[in-house]
Amino acid sequence: MSLTTTNMRQNFTIVARLLILSLGSAVSAFAQVSPDWTDPFPPFHIAGNLYYVGSKGLASYLVTTPQGNILINSDLEANVPMIQASIEKLGFKFKDTKILLISHAHWDHAAGSAKIKEMTGASYMVMEGDVPVVESGGMSDFQYGQTPGALYPPAKVDRVLHDGDEVKLGGTALVAHLTPGHTRGCTTWTMKVTEAGRTYNVLILGSPNVNPGYKLVDNKAYPQIAQDYESMWRVLKSLPCDIFLGAHGSYFGMEQKYPLLKNGQPNSFIDPQGYQKYITQKEQDFRTELAKQSSAVK
Ligand SMILES: [Zn+2]
Repeated sequence: MSLTTTNMRQNFTIVARLLILSLGSAVSAFAQVSPDWTDPFPPFHIAGNLYYVGSKGLASYLVTTPQGNILINSDLEANVPMIQASIEKLGFKFKDTKILLISHAHWDHAAGSAKIKEMTGASYMVMEGDVPVVESGGMSDFQYGQTPGALYPPAKVDRVLHDGDEVKLGGTALVAHLTPGHTRGCTTWTMKVTEAGRTYNVLILGSPNVNPGYKLVDNKAYPQIAQDYESMWRVLKSLPCDIFLGAHGSYFGMEQKYPLLKNGQPNSFIDPQGYQKYITQKEQDFRTELAKQSSAVK
């Protein structure tokens, strides 16, 4: 083997390594997209006046009332026609959407909001801490503000919500609980539903996740992030939950519970133990990550 060939090979290896490195960082600079986010899922009745109208990976809920409907989560822009079709498949009118709510201001729950507002004229109600994020189309997000793929059409907020505020329509009331950390205005929704003469506490979890890359220690863009997560655990542990739901079906095992939903059988979404178990695990994950990041700083 000549010296030139060896050099060429070495050069090639270096170039290949650089290419792999730059590709890797390019990929991580983009927002994560899970393929099941745009996979359809059959719309279904959960309990009382509450229905599932989301995709396989992104949860959306419809609350129906005699004065029009409330939609929770607009999801990706690409999901809007699917949400509309799901609502209509259940026999409701998309145009009857009077109020639009979100779990939190990330693209996978809020990117379709501008489109839904335009199509239905719904009033958009968002928790205070998330308002600048949705109104800037994700650009003021503390983590993903510079991330291509995490930005979306800005949508004007019609009512700014605060912790404990009620959203009322046609005899139904949803309560907005501030459960911050994942985003500044991350919201856990609760409501009561009545099914076969019994009343149940519904809880739609905003997000308990510490995403990859989240800085819990010395976060200049979000200095109080760790305290906010702490406040979220306190709130989540204090809320009553019979019917456990969330911003992603994976939080509450939707794909496992859905086939069990059969007429006359106990509603598989009534799962208070599953809720407690889930938030206990998520709090543990947070504490492990916080300890890891704290010891790295010392
Ligand atoms: Zn999120």
